[in-house]
Amino acid sequence: MERRFFCSKCANVFDVTIPENACSVMEMRCPACNSQQVSVAPPWAPLGSGLNIFTGDEWAYECGECKFQFRLSIPKSPDENKLRKCPKCHCNNLKSITCSNALPLYCG
Ligand SMILES: [Zn+2]
Ligand SMILES: [Zn+2]
Repeated sequence: MERRFFCSKCANVFDVTIPENACSVMEMRCPACNSQQVSVAPPWAPLGSGLNIFTGDEWAYECGECKFQFRLSIPKSPDENKLRKCPKCHCNNLKSITCSNALPLYCG
């Protein structure tokens, strides 16, 4: 079984294969910086370091049309994320704003 994890120290996102007969919680370490400050990331989180798009329990967005910036709760799926619209001009040309020292709280 493969789970996706996130390092809160270097913002690395990585996959770990967990054996099915694991009887206790494995000691998890980030392969990039060897930190133990890792948490479970949503399976569709982007792989690789430096792609920290998690901002607590909210994501920050910027509208591509009117440049309005706002926050919404973390979407439950990529589809929900795609359906989101700018509260000001109602276009759906949104992008997530990268935040460097944020933690992922969403876990599913
Ligand atoms: Zn790390
Ligand atoms: Zn807008």
